[in-house]
Formats: sequence, structure tokens, C-alpha cells
Amino acid sequence: GPAPESADVALAWLAAHDNTFGHFINGAWTKPGKTFASENPANGKKLADVTDGTAADVDAAVKAARAAFPKWSALSGYQRGKYLYAIARLIQKHSRLFAVLETMDNGKPIRESRDVDIPLVARHFYHHAGWAQHLEREFPEHVPYGVCGQIIPWNFPLLMLAWKIAPALAAGNTVVLKPAEFTSLTALLFAEICDKAHLPKGVVNIVTGEGDTGAAITGHPDIDKIAFTGSTEVGKIIRRATAGTGKGLSLELGGKSPYIVFDDADIDSAIEGLVDAIWFNQGQVCCAGSRLLVQESIEERFIEKLKKRMSTLRVGDPLDKAVDIGALVAPVQVERVRDLVKKGVAEGGQLYEPDIDVPGGGCFIKPTLITNVSTANTVANEEIFGPVLVEMSFRTPEEAVALANNTRYGLAATIWTENVNLALDIAPKLKAGVVWINSTNNFDAAVGFGGYKESGFGREGGKEGMVSYLKAKWEKELKPFVAA
Ligand code: NAD
Repeated sequence: GPAPESADVALAWLAAHDNTFGHFINGAWTKPGKTFASENPANGKKLADVTDGTAADVDAAVKAARAAFPKWSALSGYQRGKYLYAIARLIQKHSRLFAVLETMDNGKPIRESRDVDIPLVARHFYHHAGWAQHLEREFPEHVPYGVCGQIIPWNFPLLMLAWKIAPALAAGNTVVLKPAEFTSLTALLFAEICDKAHLPKGVVNIVTGEGDTGAAITGHPDIDKIAFTGSTEVGKIIRRATAGTGKGLSLELGGKSPYIVFDDADIDSAIEGLVDAIWFNQGQVCCAGSRLLVQESIEERFIEKLKKRMSTLRVGDPLDKAVDIGALVAPVQVERVRDLVKKGVAEGGQLYEPDIDVPGGGCFIKPTLITNVSTANTVANEEIFGPVLVEMSFRTPEEAVALANNTRYGLAATIWTENVNLALDIAPKLKAGVVWINSTNNFDAAVGFGGYKESGFGREGGKEGMVSYLKAKWEKELKPFVAA
């Protein structure tokens, strides 16, 4: 196969920063404070020391964002769009560095960071550069919130940053963003891109840290809106923390999305879709098709084929361009996933792991299948957030819908069938923010993404995503449209 991608470009960038980072506040790096290590989950090697943000750090970032807000929000949409466009171009220019750094920090295969994450990041900024220019006409009776506090997870570090920062800036807000503690590095590289794009200082502030730093953001009195992506558990804490304040709030939380295969489906493509649905990003995907629901008449044949396909998946060095499944983000996640699999087996599930090689010394888990699961089992209900697929069967479309909706989540659903009428009949009955038919994991910057039920509220992307960064406000005299 092709030679593995070289780590050099990322190691050189880290070395240029002495492998030690402060926060990016008011357009400059702060002196590193108390730090924690950021490690490569594929080999356990330390990549950098990152500062654990204090409440005082968060306060300094909020002050910078507040000070930058009047000028930034007063720019025309066209002027703000030009900055977003410049950021998109710089991300493309440095896409190799971004992809390698993301893969080393997160453990995801380079094929994914190179072909999915980073291109979607650029796309998101281009898309919102367009929105910025339409705002005065599309939303003349809306104003930005002000200062937005944004807290993101580790599964798509730079992409989640883009989902948060691009619409916020397009709308005229300024931001304080905290990346997840396992994956701070591409957010710090992004800070440098903001500088290169000559973004006015204070418009984007990056504060690194753990849960306490996040809590300092959600509790800060001078933040106008909180946007959070992460676990349902922390989402509930944040909802409580912001209740009784005037803060706006959007939550993108967990999922346990059904992947429904009817007996008339094109089985080979349904299996390829499934590989993408549950083993993309090691299954650490909020909308992962983690509950396979197969029609009983084809169950045996389908599972047999699936097992064969699982035995051809390659688990290994994420920088290897031929690898399908890389490393999970951190040892604590490996433990979590293993515990859940054990529980699944203890409760009667049948375990299948293919007989394939897995490298030692890193956070690797084989693609895993648990069959013979019942709706009461832990693994049928809890989000595993790892490369573990749980399977159940159904007889009728009604039963498929009932099983699919038998969850506290509602982020996504996939239907596989050659019968378009059947697909169009059951799609509206599925309680999920997106329903994919004969495809899966289809994302588009122009489409609002988000959940039903405990998967959260608010949408990111598209018109709905723009609205979530704007407040309706009727002003008698509309500002004239001024081209720069
Ligand atoms: P997490 O909730 O543990 O952490 C998310 C972020 O919140 C991190 O930056 C963390 O430091 C911060 N945080 C932790 N405690 C906090 C507190 N008390 N106050 C404020 N901030 C706090 O989640 P995770 O393990 O990083 O991510 C995995 C979860 O994210 C999964 O459940 C997954 O489904 C979900 N997710 C959802 C979406 C979506 O769009 N719905 C996208 C990606 C991930």
C-alpha cells in the first residue's frame, strides 16, 4: 500500500510552539499556566502541554470578546463574509497540517481527517461567508446575541469548532470557545489561522481546559448565549446552570440512531452503508447508526455477510492511508466501551469480533457486533460511542418504527429498502432530526442538523443554524445596506 502519512508537518508545528500552549485571547497567546498533557491515542506519546483554563482566563476571554463586539457586529455582512472566506481559504491552504494534527491528536484515520473532516470545515466557512452577505436582507429584523460561549466535544474537534464559530461570526457575534480536553490542538492551530486572516482581535478567543473551564464559561454572567455539543449528561448540567439566566442556549447531545434494513434492500450497499454508519470515526459519532434493525426474513444472511465484511476491516496506525479504523480518543473511552460490551454479553448478547490484527500500545478496539439483544438490555439503550454495533430484528414496518423510536434519543435514522413508497411512508414516523434513505452520514452545511428528545434542541447548519445565532428585534428604521 501507499507509505503512511508523515507526522513531520505536525511535529514541526508543535515544536515551533515548544510543545506548550497558552490560550488565544484578544488576538495573542497567553503565557502557559497550569498545564495538562495532550497525547496521541495511537501510541500514548505526549504531543503537547495545554493550559487548564481558570475562571480568570475565561473572564479575560469574555472581556476581550465583549470589547470586540461593537465593531465586529457593526461591520456589513459583506465585510464579515470576507473574513470567513479568508479563513476558509487558509484552512484549505494548510489542510495537510490540519489533517495530520487532527489524526495524531484524536486517533481518527488520516483518510477521514483528510477527505471528510477538513474539507467539511472549509465548506462550513465558505457556506457561512455566503450567509453573512445575505443577512441584512434575509433577517433585517434580527441582531446578533453578543458574546457566545461555545463548548465542544473531541470526536470531530475542528469540524465541531467550525459548526460553532462560522455561523456565530457570520451573524456578528464574538466568541469564547473551549475545545475538549483530549483534542485542543487543531483549535489552537485555528487560532493562528484567525491571526493570519487578520480577524480583528477579540472576535475569536480559544480557552483550553477541562470540565471546570467549561463550567466557568456557562456560569459567566457576561455571556449572552451558550452553544454546547457533547454528552446528554453534561448537556443537562448546562441546561440547569443556565436556567434562570437570560442566556440563549442550544444543545447537541448524544444519540442511539437506528439503521433499518428491509428484506428487499440491496444488501451489499446496505452493508457498505453500515460500515460507514458505525465504524466511521471508530463509532465515536453522535449520529452513528449504532442500532441495527434487520427484517427477520433476511437476518441470518445479512449477519453472515456483515461478519465477513467485518473481517476485512483494517484496524491500525491512523496515519496509515489504508487503515479503516484508527484509535479511540483516550484510554478512558476504551475502558468505557469495554465495560459496556461486557454488560451486553452478561445480559445475554452474543458477541462477535473478527479474527483480525490489532496493534498493541494504543487505544484500539476491533469492530464489534452484539446480536441477540433485547430492548431492555443496556447496550440497546445506552450510547456506547465506540466501534460496537448492536443488532435486533423486526417482522413488520410497524414493528421497525416502534423499535426505532424506542429510545430516549432522536438524532438520526437510516432506512434501507428498494421500496420508495415504504421508505417515504415510515420516514415521517421516525422521531429523528434527520432520516437518510439508502445512504447514511450525509452532512451538508446548508442543512440544519440536530436532535429530537434527549438528543438536544437547536439546529446547526443551514437557515435554522443561522437563526440560532440571531435574536429577533424590530427596529423602526432599518439600517441601509452598505457595500464595502
Ligand atoms: P462531554 O459532555 O464529556 O464533554 C463535552 C465538552 O463539555 C468538553 O469540552 C468538556 O470539557 C465539557 N464539559 C464537561 N463537563 C462540563 C461542565 N460541567 N460544564 C461545562 N462544560 C463541561 O462529551 P464528550 O465525551 O466530549 O463527547 C461525547 C458526546 O458528545 C457523545 O455523547 C456524543 O453523542 C456527543 N456529540 C453530539 C453531537 C451532536 O451534534 N449532537 C456531536 C458530537 C458529539
